[in-house]
Amino acid sequence: MTPPETCPHCGADVPPAARACPECGADERTGWSEAARADGLDLPDDAFDYEDFVRREFGGRRAVPRGLHWFWWVAALAALAAFLAHWVW
Ligand SMILES: [Zn+2]
Repeated sequence: MTPPETCPHCGADVPPAARACPECGADERTGWSEAARADGLDLPDDAFDYEDFVRREFGGRRAVPRGLHWFWWVAALAALAAFLAHWVW
């Protein structure tokens, strides 16, 4: 387990050979193991924010607006009814 280049707790530079952050003392036991793994994937510094991503992609609207849920229920029930009718008659 290698430490991240920068401490996820305080942002200090962590020497490659260090086993703990020289600034705040964080180490793989106290919690940078997750960040170290993410660092290996070469992700940007700020964690991926899914909510923010959705907000930017869909202009603040959810993919399925809450008010349209009833529509999908009706569509599903209609499909089910058609399916059952096919087998009854
Ligand atoms: Zn630190």
